[in-house]
Amino acid sequence: MLNILIVEDEYAIANLINTYLSGEGYRCFCAFDGKEAADRIEEENYDLILLDIMLPQIDGYELLEYIKPLGTPVIFITARGAVNDRIKGLKLGADDYLVKPFQIGELSARVEAVLRRYGKSEKQLVFGDVLINTESRQVTKNGCAIDLTVKEFDLLVELVRNKNVALYRNRLYEKVWNEEFIGETRTLDSHIQRLRRKLQWEDNIKTVFRIGYRLEG
Ligand code: CA
Repeated sequence: MLNILIVEDEYAIANLINTYLSGEGYRCFCAFDGKEAADRIEEENYDLILLDIMLPQIDGYELLEYIKPLGTPVIFITARGAVNDRIKGLKLGADDYLVKPFQIGELSARVEAVLRRYGKSEKQLVFGDVLINTESRQVTKNGCAIDLTVKEFDLLVELVRNKNVALYRNRLYEKVWNEEFIGETRTLDSHIQRLRRKLQWEDNIKTVFRIGYRLEG
């Protein structure tokens, strides 16, 4: 799981970011002033730091100078309209910046993009109590390992990446089996049955009449 430090003195914003990114499977920590951030950075390694500029005690610029030698990617969070802040931030070596108020989805996309650039792209998918590591291809539910075949695993990843979306049988089949769907649904259906059983997802994987399946949660 990737660690993200959120340095932001506005509690509401820090908590919003924390809740959202935690839901995306990141492990988040908050620091509410520059001093606390410096202490945390000294104690722990982070995969990414979200850094507000205007902070009590030590501001974001000063912290950035401290962070850069560590090689940790940084996304600056700046107040609206502070164009000079953005230019200065990027010149100082921030990897990206975001202007408040921002769409939380935009933040998530930028976090992902920066992590990918650093070769740390999100390897972990989370759905309820199920954790999926797409690199080691391990799946756990409530901390217990779940044994899946190759195709069951690929199918699971497809469902989780498209949660709450109705997926057509033919597209699902072609994506997972990498071959043309010729109308034979038994293979796909039996894999769905096994996923339902192994993950106790009888209620989560819905059959969508005449279409296919949808993972709900
Ligand atoms: Ca601030």
